Amino acid sequence: MKLYGVIGDPIAHSLSPVMQGRAFDEMGIKAHYHPFHIKGQDLEIAIKGMKAIGVEGFNVTIPHKTAVIPFLDSIDPLAKAIGAVNTVIRENNRWIGYNTDGEGFTEALQAEWKENLQDEQVLMIGAGGAAKAVFYTLLSKGIHHIDICNRTMERAKKLIKDCPYKGHSTALTLTEAEEKLSQYSLIIQTTSIGMYPEVSQSPLSLEQLNPNAFVSDIIYNPFETTFLKAAKKRGAKTQNGLGMFVYQGALAFEKWTGQSPNIQRMTETVMEQLGGNVCLPENKNAF
Ligand code: NAP
Repeated sequence: MKLYGVIGDPIAHSLSPVMQGRAFDEMGIKAHYHPFHIKGQDLEIAIKGMKAIGVEGFNVTIPHKTAVIPFLDSIDPLAKAIGAVNTVIRENNRWIGYNTDGEGFTEALQAEWKENLQDEQVLMIGAGGAAKAVFYTLLSKGIHHIDICNRTMERAKKLIKDCPYKGHSTALTLTEAEEKLSQYSLIIQTTSIGMYPEVSQSPLSLEQLNPNAFVSDIIYNPFETTFLKAAKKRGAKTQNGLGMFVYQGALAFEKWTGQSPNIQRMTETVMEQLGGNVCLPENKNAF
């Protein structure tokens, strides 16, 4: 029996153990995926200990995604640029860190919208940790036109300035973004605004939205945020954050096992889990 897991603080809420555990079962791989509740002060010893007890690989969640980096043996260039790791694999007894959040977002977008994103005019709302992973990953794939708006402008400017991948990006205030909204073909909402329990909030007005635009919100609780509802009302196609979560997990699974899990089954597993303890829309299949 191989051992995998996720480290975080808190960790009891994590959906990864059930999602990954079932994926291992379905692929016929004898493995256990465990939620490890690790406090910040115990991080170094926990990472060493996991090597000692034979853990094959693990995910990293809040608040350890950046703090874990000094305790790994090597880090993939994209994860290094992002400055955060969410997946660790064991190779020749060395811990190698990756970031599959941005890649997970991109794969979900391609699966739910379109494959070729090169020529899209993109507006990203938010400049936090998730925004950084999404922005750096999209730029690393050659998607050049991505503007960023954020409540704190300085954070958006810094995100653009620090990015090692070339692009044509401008930092905007939320008001400037609202005024220019019709120019964008893809809008990516990465802030925590609208997340349960503050479900009535929305990061900006969609009055000027181009109805042909695609609107993605990386929140999946609720399944359909007020922001996505407003976008849909204006005729836009929409996507919630469930796909990003599932794909980042599937990418981790592939790195550990060399096998591709069934995305549909993973999605169903997460939806089953969410069904019990989150605010659900009337139509569960709305995402
Ligand atoms: P974070 O680093 O704390 O960043 C939060 C972002 O939200 C910042 O841009 C912040 O703006 C903005 N924000 C928060 N409260 C705001 C308010 N009241 N008004 C205006 N802006 C506000 O958080 P994160 O880790 O990036 O996570 C952001 C969201 O993404 C969360 O809802 C999280 O659950 C979700 N997420 C989803 C997935 C997935 O797999 N689907 C993965 C990761 C994260 P300032 O810079 O001005 O503070």
